Formats: sequence, structure tokens, C-alpha cells
Amino acid sequence: MGDYLVRATAEGGAVRVLAALTTRLVEEARRRHGTWPTATAALGRAITAAALLGATLKGRQTVTLRVLGDGPVGGIVADADAWGRVRGYLKNPQVDLPLKPHGKLDVGGAVGRRGFLHVVRDYGLKEPYAGSCPLVTGEIAEDLTAYFARSEQTPSAVGLGVLVGKGGRVRAAGGFVVQLLAGAPDSLAARVEAAVQRVSSVSGLIEAVRNPVGLASRVLEGFTLRVLGRRRLRFSCRCSRAKTRELLVVLGLEELRELYRTRRGAEMVCRFCGRAYRFSGRHLLQLMNLEGDGGRRPEAGRERGPGA
Ligand code: ZN
Repeated sequence: MGDYLVRATAEGGAVRVLAALTTRLVEEARRRHGTWPTATAALGRAITAAALLGATLKGRQTVTLRVLGDGPVGGIVADADAWGRVRGYLKNPQVDLPLKPHGKLDVGGAVGRRGFLHVVRDYGLKEPYAGSCPLVTGEIAEDLTAYFARSEQTPSAVGLGVLVGKGGRVRAAGGFVVQLLAGAPDSLAARVEAAVQRVSSVSGLIEAVRNPVGLASRVLEGFTLRVLGRRRLRFSCRCSRAKTRELLVVLGLEELRELYRTRRGAEMVCRFCGRAYRFSGRHLLQLMNLEGDGGRRPEAGRERGPGA
């Protein structure tokens, strides 16, 4: 079964739950970026969080999550769109820290406990909605909980888990968000809190149930859930040769000339998916001409033949 997420409600809509299974998605990210176990967990949690944040996107809307902590993985970026396409990367994939007590991966140590979590919701309006919040633990779930409370004024409980097996492969990944609608009675809030606190290991639970509906039911044990919708999730990058070419143009004429002079070409690697786009010397010459440099085309390339 592939990855997907579900949206559900309980108590006549007063409780909202999102649950996602992202095992394949996170394994694909691990494979593309060559992440080591603690980095795999950090990136996987961020990717799962982006998928959950994107659960209600429509049309061309996107959401981007940035986790910028002072730990060894450096910054993490993940985004999602309305088609369930999710992607992400981090600065330093080769991070593996000693396990914490109970054998848990030290994501907080890898991300760092000082820094910020930023969310940008681009709904295709004039200005995207951007919110941020200081990191609490660097474990990402607690940080996202703080973000929901502070920036979106929504009391939430967030759980994110990535289980890395022997050999570094992802055995299970996923997460949930439980939210209370404004005006919910304190007694309901207490019941939800008690239910969520019974979840001791998110990744263990995901490995046990292996589907989002089961995950939501186990997190909100004792509540009757009404499933509102499902969405398939997959690792998919929106990069293209045309977009990469634009990035090359943005480098400017001097840098293009330098690339042509020293390397007779350029290679641009998409940070999100690791795909490499190669541009030959001939391409660089064309770009430089497009830039209006008709008079000062590098002559050397003509003699030696461009397109190395
Ligand atoms: Zn890409």
C-alpha cells in the first residue's frame, strides 16, 4: 500500500484529526539525499509535517516548512502541494548521533534547540501567509505544536515518527495532528489530551498499524471518527530543465562567462531531489547571447569548439 493521509473529525466536528503514512516518501528522500539515520529521521519528520500542513490545500496552493536550528543537520526545507506531492532536503545529510535512552533517534540534537520554525502558505493570493515560532525542542513535533498555538491560534497535538531499520532504510514513517475547534469545552480538551498522551512511540504505533485511518483511531482511542477525505502522498519534485535554466540566467553574465571559460559548461543540481541538469558550453553561449552580449562573445570557444 502506498502513502496517503486522511482527514477526519470526531465529536460532531469539534475535534479534527489528520493522519499520514509517509514510509515510502521518507525512504525515497533518504535514498535521494543519502541521509544517515538521525538526519533521515529529522528530514522524514519535516517532510511528514509538510504533508500534514498541506492536507487541505487546493488547486495551485503550496505550503513550505523550514526548520532552521543550530544543530549539525543545518536547515531543513520541505514543501507540499494540493496533489500530495511532497519533497524536502537538509543541509548536512551525513549526521548520525548516539541514540537517546529507550533507543530513540536524537532528532532534537541533530536539529538543534535554538532557532526557528517557519511556515509559508502560498494560496496564490498577492502575499503568501508566513508565520514562524522559536524552536522548543528541535524534535519538530513539539515545535509544530508551538507554531499552531502561537501563529495559527489553534490548540493542537502533533506526533511525528520515523523508524530507521538496520542498514539505514526507513521501516515506518508518519504522523498526526489533532486539533480542537475554538470554543470546545474543557472536558473535551481534557479527554483529547488524555488520549493523545497515551501514545508513547509514534513510530512504533505507525509500524504496528501501517495505515492512516488506523493511526488516527489509535491516537483518538474511544472517539468515533468520521473520515472526510484521503489524499495520496508521494515524493515528487517540481523542478524542470526550464526552471533550472532560469536560475542559470539569474547568475548573471560575469558568472556565465566564468563558467564557460573554466568549465565549458555548467551542472546545476536540484537541492530538493538531487537531479542534475547539465548545460553544455553551447548552451552557455546561447544564454550569454540572450543576455544581450552580442559584442563580447568568448572567442576561444569558437576555435576549440564549444559544447564540452
Ligand atoms: Zn528537483
